[in-house]
Amino acid sequence: AGVMPKYVYDFIEGDRGRADLLGGKGANLSEMTRLGLPVPPGFTISTDACRAYLRTGAPPDGLFAEVNAHLREVEGRLDRWLGDPHDPLLLAVRSGGRYSMPGMMETILDIGLNDATVGGLAARSGDERFAWDSYRRLIQMFGRTVYGVPVEEFERELAALRATAGAAGPSAGQLHDLVETYKKIFARQVGHDFPQAPHEQLYLAIRSVFESWNAERARIYRRQERIPDDLGTAVNVMAMVFGNLGPDSGTGVAFTRDPATGAPGVYGDYLADAQGEDVVAGIRNTLPLPELERIDPASFLRLTEIMATLERHYRDLCDIEFTIERGKLWMLQTRVGKRTAAAAFVIAAQLVDEGLITLDEALLRVTGGQLAQLMFPAFDASGAPEPLAVGVGASPGAAVGRVVFDSAAAAAADAPVILVRAETNPDDLPGMIAAAGVLTSRGGKTSHAAVVARGMGRTCVCGADALRIDPERGEFTVGDRVVRAGDVISIDGTTGRIYPGEVPVQPSPVARYLAGELEPQADPLVAAVHRLLGHADAVRRLGVRANADTGADARRARRFGATGVGLCRTEHMFLGERRELVERLILADGPPEVAAVLEELLPLQRADFVEILAAMDGLPVTIRLLDPPLHEFLPPLHELTARVARAEAWGEDPGRDGRLLVAVRRMHESNPMLGLRGVRLGLVVPGLFAMQVRAVAEAAAQRIRDGGDPRPEIMVPLVGDVKELAAVRVEAERVLAEVPGGPAVPIGTMIEVPRAALTAGEIAAEAHFFSFGTNDLTQTAWAFSRDDVEGSFFSAYLERGIFPVSPFETIDAKGVGRLVRLAVAEGRATRPELTIGVCGEHGGDPDSVAFFADAGLDYVSCSPYRVPVARLAAGRAAV
Ligand code: PEP
Ligand code: MG
Repeated sequence: AGVMPKYVYDFIEGDRGRADLLGGKGANLSEMTRLGLPVPPGFTISTDACRAYLRTGAPPDGLFAEVNAHLREVEGRLDRWLGDPHDPLLLAVRSGGRYSMPGMMETILDIGLNDATVGGLAARSGDERFAWDSYRRLIQMFGRTVYGVPVEEFERELAALRATAGAAGPSAGQLHDLVETYKKIFARQVGHDFPQAPHEQLYLAIRSVFESWNAERARIYRRQERIPDDLGTAVNVMAMVFGNLGPDSGTGVAFTRDPATGAPGVYGDYLADAQGEDVVAGIRNTLPLPELERIDPASFLRLTEIMATLERHYRDLCDIEFTIERGKLWMLQTRVGKRTAAAAFVIAAQLVDEGLITLDEALLRVTGGQLAQLMFPAFDASGAPEPLAVGVGASPGAAVGRVVFDSAAAAAADAPVILVRAETNPDDLPGMIAAAGVLTSRGGKTSHAAVVARGMGRTCVCGADALRIDPERGEFTVGDRVVRAGDVISIDGTTGRIYPGEVPVQPSPVARYLAGELEPQADPLVAAVHRLLGHADAVRRLGVRANADTGADARRARRFGATGVGLCRTEHMFLGERRELVERLILADGPPEVAAVLEELLPLQRADFVEILAAMDGLPVTIRLLDPPLHEFLPPLHELTARVARAEAWGEDPGRDGRLLVAVRRMHESNPMLGLRGVRLGLVVPGLFAMQVRAVAEAAAQRIRDGGDPRPEIMVPLVGDVKELAAVRVEAERVLAEVPGGPAVPIGTMIEVPRAALTAGEIAAEAHFFSFGTNDLTQTAWAFSRDDVEGSFFSAYLERGIFPVSPFETIDAKGVGRLVRLAVAEGRATRPELTIGVCGEHGGDPDSVAFFADAGLDYVSCSPYRVPVARLAAGRAAV
């Protein structure tokens, strides 16, 4: 015969390392017991037992025998017995899984009370009212939890009694009668009497805690928090202690530091003459914990000693639940406590100062996501009205402004505005730059609006599909509410909420510090961020560059700690008044005219590059040759068609519009993202790439003449075959050789289509560097249109758990990441000194940064505002 499996662990057997088996609560109760803290005796039934129960619908063999053995031990230690009519032991039965799921599963208190033992409890406590009140609590909790009796059935009777009882509360006799009424309700609802046998009560309570793992709300919570469904919960069975035995009893929660700010001190709430459930339910007003010092100085002193012990032991902020029974302090729970982003930084730095943790450990106590949160101004939540609607929080921040519906109005406004569009396109850029925030009704986190807004650090909510936007009438509606141009709204780019009117905003001291506007010692939070970021920089192996298309972006990125530009997208330089030149380029009649237009574009491009190279003097600037399909720079087909039709209807010559219409029709593509773009464009539009390369070379030469140290690099987009790159490189090197006085300019390629990754070994022979364009690589590896899918089926995929998170947000390590690893290995096999970076949106995502560090990249490049986040994430990846 095999050894019987062990399912039950006394609190003196476990420890905090066994949270998988004992659940978080059980493991920490064990840990406190081992530390000699005053924990009521008890034991934990393991998650193994729960999983076995959920598999078969029955308790595993021998479970209750094991429970009985442990119970006898507890009884022996206390010298009191479950079911003893003179002095009964009562039990609390509480759930507690591996990960905290607050309030999602069940708790049953006062197990062991029945018609016989209630008298014993009254005698021992000397309080008959307390005994009958405890009994009615048990019937109610047990009825609801084990048999699903609606609580209202009981609450109705309780409320009626309270209403007639007067100020002193119900008498013992009245409570006794209430218990009789409760028993009748129980029998009517359940079909049999309330179980009198204490052991049966215990077994039923344990089963119902197991079953509560699969309660609807618990499942929903797990899905949201990404907690696996198959872990099961442990069950903690503990001797009851009572906080409701009069004024010298009570119950409370405590934090070893302020979980909101991290400030040291005594934080928490206390409720005299109450049970723990009363605090959580918020039925009565609690006192601030420091008041306990006045009420019960001895317990307060003991509690603060215990708090110090727990902090030293866990080396972190702990939260605690405790009960005082007639002046005796008992610990009911502790755990490493949840905290705000600000508190996480402050506490980590404090613990370093106190010698409890190292700086490396401190880095692991904070996340890039928390730093990102701290960089954005935030709405003061207490001042917010009901939201009008909720969209996708696409670019964090809190923006308040008057509604405008077009870009020109935004650019012309002299007060803050929110640009509201169905969706944005490159034409909206000036409006987006001018606006305080951008709100769209279509598109997801990688829509144009989202990507551009994030790049600029502009607050953006997109895909708010409840909005009916009517720019012609100058209004949008949500249901029957109308918001007109000029009305003030507030948008929260973190939560996606859209509020009517002005919601108060708090500026971010962390952002001001990062921008050089505040001294590092300005306040404890800024000081903590400064210190941890400094340590991240000292330990990280990944470089952090920025995606920047203008001198202003590059300057900001440098202040935020970027050591170069990893992607300068040149397409933004072809907008505005230069658009006309692009139109002429497309309409050009033969090579001489093309050459003439390019000649006009050259000095404009050169000036762009001079400014960026100056901003990043001494640091690499990767300039990408033109990537998007050319027709993106032309008026849309439907607009042109309408203009031409109108002109013709008036009997006018449509002139240039007519010729443009022909060109746009000729260039129309069904899948432009898979069409004539990137390197393909460079190979079929003669002179275009050469002009850009010349502009780079001349700008660099000019910077050198001016005493600068320009380090430009030229990057070719959308390469799929080495021959494409080789052809561009020959031309580029010819142009570079023609410009005197420039620096050596490395020529590299983006790896952003699967074929490039799969043939990286060949491509590396022609490339000085690789940069992964993970936006396009994700799009092409999955066959997902990055412009469309987030608004269509992504939410269904996320809900069904097919994606844990959008692959456009966090790199899909298994699929797309495999292409990355393969290209790194084969690229370096050909050219060991190959520099490799990433410049897709993933470069600023903390989880993806960890992946890129592991994949052996040299740097990540992300939008300027993400640079500090990437620095921190890269530091965390290195410790
Ligand atoms: C990419 O594809 O990841 C990339 C950086 O290029 P773009 O987003 O401009 O296509
Ligand atoms: Mg790309």
